[in-house]
Amino acid sequence: MIKENLNEILADIPENVTLVAVSKTKPASEIEEAYAAGQRVFGENKVQEMVEKEAVLPRDIQWHLIGHVQTNKVKYIAPFVSVIHAVDSLKLLSEINKQAKKNNRTIKCMLQMHIADEESKFGMKFDELMEVLNSNELVEMQNVSIIGLMGMATFTDNEEQVREEFCNLEGDFNVIKSHFFKFNDNFKHLSMGMSGDYKLAIEEGSTMVRIGSSIFGGRN
Ligand SMILES: *Cc1c(COP(=O)(O)O)cnc(C)c1O
Repeated sequence: MIKENLNEILADIPENVTLVAVSKTKPASEIEEAYAAGQRVFGENKVQEMVEKEAVLPRDIQWHLIGHVQTNKVKYIAPFVSVIHAVDSLKLLSEINKQAKKNNRTIKCMLQMHIADEESKFGMKFDELMEVLNSNELVEMQNVSIIGLMGMATFTDNEEQVREEFCNLEGDFNVIKSHFFKFNDNFKHLSMGMSGDYKLAIEEGSTMVRIGSSIFGGRN
């Protein structure tokens, strides 16, 4: 089942779009099944759960933390995490840099923007994002690499609204790219799209889709 679901999605997305298989709440055995089918990029939203799974699963898995992360927990994932998607403050970025340095590595980060019409979702507004990117502190951070922006659309059936939110994020991406990362090839990703809206997200420029339930089935 997992293999068939993966293949169906992979056939459906362009080659330049990275599929992050969101395995949160699912047992390691199901990740192994996806791994056997060739999947190497997995997304988790909780630090503790990711640490436990990383310890028992193959070394060449690329672990993406997609959920909100507390500053005091960065140290647990710093030795191995590949990408942290939901960076929403300079304080968090600074801690990631510090822990990455301790581990003698560079951690890829995406800045999360608040694009949904909902209070509950994390992420920065455009002016907060500008503050982070304009800060002098950022220049000193040698152990983080900002590879793009991430966003979550409103949970709604209204396709036009979701499309507009993705479209706005892509617009912000282009502005940020040309102002801050014009000559930096690392900044090239737009992490948007989940099981219910990844097709729309790709049409609006997504390069990284985070898909859980369409691969592993529903969560309780
Ligand atoms: C759970 C989760 C996903 C995947 O959601 P599905 O609807 O199961 O595809 C994507 N992104 C984030 C941030 C999540 O927490």
